[in-house]
Amino acid sequence: MSELNERTIALVTGANKGIGYQIAAGLGALGWSVGVGARDAGRRETAVERLRAAGVDAFGVPLDVTDDASATAAAQLIEERSGRLDVLVNNAAIVGAMPQEPTRVDPATIRAVVETNVIGVIRVTNAMLPLLRRSTAARIVNMSSTVGSLTRQSAPDRELNAGPVAAGYSPSKTFLNAVTLQYTRELTGTDILINAACPGYVATDLNGFRGTRTPEQGAAIAIKLATLPTDGPTGHFFDDAGEVPW
Ligand code: NAP
Repeated sequence: MSELNERTIALVTGANKGIGYQIAAGLGALGWSVGVGARDAGRRETAVERLRAAGVDAFGVPLDVTDDASATAAAQLIEERSGRLDVLVNNAAIVGAMPQEPTRVDPATIRAVVETNVIGVIRVTNAMLPLLRRSTAARIVNMSSTVGSLTRQSAPDRELNAGPVAAGYSPSKTFLNAVTLQYTRELTGTDILINAACPGYVATDLNGFRGTRTPEQGAAIAIKLATLPTDGPTGHFFDDAGEVPW
């Protein structure tokens, strides 16, 4: 077995910037080999170079999560490079065009958001599953958001923690949470643990850098769920404060 194959192999989607980049940096700091999933060649290579300069064993993975052929090619690349995948962090997402109030939203906006934030996760997960099944301790982390929590959206104090009214982005994370649970049910009894994570309100492109947390802080919960022990939880939703209600 080569040195590479003894290392934990991870793939982070949307790893060229924001929270995804910091997840890649954090997993790389553990000595893991980290695939930087990104759709734009220039942004991908810049991120890989930055990570390598920081000592991370990073490699570029061309990946547009909305494209079947791209997901298949990404799995092929990892197959040829390492023969298996241990950790998949489904981080890539979009907010989508505004407005998103349900009375005004363009249905095309909802379709685009769901295509990336939900179907993209299913597409990439299923492309990677044969590689994940070869790991003895596979972990899947789906980057969700507390704005997808129906409990939070319907709570009496919802204005405090439910985010803006948005018929595209917020329900896409609710949908993602529901899909996460269905994967958990199907994969019960395998070595694969799958959980959803919320990074908190993080200053990134996604929110015009209005977030109050740093991308490093936002990455912490994903790194924790990517490194769960064998008897760790599966089918749960976490942020830094603990379990988030669905
Ligand atoms: P970000 O800075 O906008 O980064 C999003 C990443 O996703 C970028 O790398 C982007 O690539 C990539 N991406 C978008 N569409 C893609 C596609 N079709 N194929 C491949 N990559 C694609 O956002 P972020 O704040 O770091 O968000 C990371 C995750 O955390 C998301 O799932 C988000 O919903 C979640 N989250 C964020 C916050 C927050 O406050 N920031 C709060 C809750 C949850 P390009 O550079 O090519 O666009």
